[in-house]
Amino acid sequence: MLRAYKYRIYPDETQKVQLAKTFGCARFVYNYYLDKKIKGYENGEKSISKIDCNNHLNRELKKELIWLKEVDKFALTNAIYNLDEAYQNFFRRVKTGKDKAGFPKFKSRHSNRFSYKSNSTNNNIEVDYAKNKIKLPKLKWCDAKVHREFDGEIKSATISQNPSERYFVSILVDEKIKELPKTNKEIGFDLGLSQFLIENNGNKIPNPKHLSKNERKLAKLQRQLAKKQKSSKNRNKMRIKVARLHEKITDTRKDFLHKLSSQIINENQVIVSEDINISGIIKNQRLAKAISDASWSEFTRQLEYKAAWYGRTYIKIDRFYPSSQICSNCGFKNIELKNLKIRDWTCESCGSHHDRDINASQNILKEGKRMLA
Ligand SMILES: [Zn+2]
Repeated sequence: MLRAYKYRIYPDETQKVQLAKTFGCARFVYNYYLDKKIKGYENGEKSISKIDCNNHLNRELKKELIWLKEVDKFALTNAIYNLDEAYQNFFRRVKTGKDKAGFPKFKSRHSNRFSYKSNSTNNNIEVDYAKNKIKLPKLKWCDAKVHREFDGEIKSATISQNPSERYFVSILVDEKIKELPKTNKEIGFDLGLSQFLIENNGNKIPNPKHLSKNERKLAKLQRQLAKKQKSSKNRNKMRIKVARLHEKITDTRKDFLHKLSSQIINENQVIVSEDINISGIIKNQRLAKAISDASWSEFTRQLEYKAAWYGRTYIKIDRFYPSSQICSNCGFKNIELKNLKIRDWTCESCGSHHDRDINASQNILKEGKRMLA
């Protein structure tokens, strides 16, 4: 099983220069062969394969442009492979005629986001947990924040620089994931707006509050940025500030979702939720923002793959199943509950009193178990 581990790295000044060179060379090689391909295409020639491009790079281009030899050779080969993939996608689009078939675009030097990929061979990529360092080709040991350990074979590393000028390395590892010991605990939950998640046992997990606060702050900063003069020093400073906050919000959200999905998978054998039709709900403009905050679809995606990894059962029930309208005690259906304003109610058939959301998640669990049986 391939799994990526992303760490922040802190290159020193020499390493930063080397990184900038590598980003630049990878971009150069990508654009160089894209140009070649476009010209060939216009002349009606057969497209050059990635192997031919790579051979040309190593046998001819590097002799002509010796500075290409100063950087990680895998970064350049992978740039060619990336181009090839973009090119294949382009041809697929031409064939199906579904989308506009635009040629792959040239990579701009004025981008704020850079990356290159290196391959693992002969221990050229290593992680030292004790010293908090990561070894990368042509960079040697780089300071890092190694907050997670892995147990497996390193396949590749993608080094990136964000718009906020922070550096990261994402290490792809081939791991053997052990299934978790079986448990007989089960969970059904409803995903909501005011609460992120409401469990069948009544437990409610609120949305992280600071997220929306930071998002308001971000909107304000973005307005300020728009007023700054183009290509001024202040604008660049502001741009980095905006990028930093943006990344912070994304990180916080991801962290919240990962922790919660891992906890649910750890603790339960059977997990049931609704299959949420995001596109249907998103039509409601007022709710759209809140929903993207809550990141329901990302959350259910995580549950799905983590359940597969760890030997759990995750069931999504039909979104038309009226989980909020049925009494979880006797099965009586109360259609008045179509009104979202009713937060709690008493069943006229059996007299049980229900919290709207908890009752719904109890029904979700029941329905999931029925499907499983
Ligand atoms: Zn009832």
